[in-house]
Amino acid sequence: MIRVKFWGVRGSIPVPGPTTVRTGGNTSSVEVRCGDSLIILDAGTGIRLLGNELLKEGKIEGHIFISHVHWDHIQGFPFFGPAFSRGNKIFLYGGRNVTTTLEETLYGQMNYPNFPVMLSQLPSEISFNDLDEGEVISMGGGEVVVENVKLNHPNGVYSYKISYRGQSLVYATDTEHYANPDPKLLEFARGTDLLVYDAQYFPEEYTGSAGGGSKVGWGHSTNLEGAKMAALAKVKKLALFHHDPLHTDEMVDEKERLARETFPETVAAREGMVIELGS
Ligand SMILES: [Zn+2]
Ligand SMILES: [Zn+2]
Repeated sequence: MIRVKFWGVRGSIPVPGPTTVRTGGNTSSVEVRCGDSLIILDAGTGIRLLGNELLKEGKIEGHIFISHVHWDHIQGFPFFGPAFSRGNKIFLYGGRNVTTTLEETLYGQMNYPNFPVMLSQLPSEISFNDLDEGEVISMGGGEVVVENVKLNHPNGVYSYKISYRGQSLVYATDTEHYANPDPKLLEFARGTDLLVYDAQYFPEEYTGSAGGGSKVGWGHSTNLEGAKMAALAKVKKLALFHHDPLHTDEMVDEKERLARETFPETVAAREGMVIELGS
């Protein structure tokens, strides 16, 4: 069984407050358990809450896959408790798609004068792996396999597919569909059990017909493009993810309702939500 838990489901910036209580206000971070293997997708502010839970488990070994290094996907890392505890092993993976390595970017985020503790001072054992597109990582005695493809986003983004004992999920945040469903993602997500998809906007926000200007080229997608992709790729379940900071709980409900008209097995990802794949 693969167990997925959402700890942060927002894009761009954390949005705490009375209008986001049910959805949650933390930026992107998702826990994925495959047997004893712990995988974490992105290190937005949601990873802080996950870290607090992991501290209760004692020593951990965790594999953190970063989709890309935009702020909302790395800003929680300096507050990830297990990184501050000796004996923990943390493996970080990112795409080899920008001019700096993942280590250089995370080092910069915590460098003086931005943060009081430097990355190099963290007592846990941290190792960095910059992935080429198509590079496959396996763990858990080879039973857990993580594949990637590069998708459409300013500065690039990696989508990850995790497979374990016949179940699989694809994490495709911060990606833009352009005119048609992206053929690369369609192929990558085909037949998977869960697709976590960038649904930052309603279609009218994306095109600009709702006012506020066009968002074409900003690197994000919509709830209905997600539903279309899920239906075409014949996935079993769709989770709408990376909600816009302007979206209230009611707007997230509405994105979910409208997507279900095209793809009934849709949920809007909300903080604390757990999805179990397989038995
Ligand atoms: Zn983002
Ligand atoms: Zn981004």
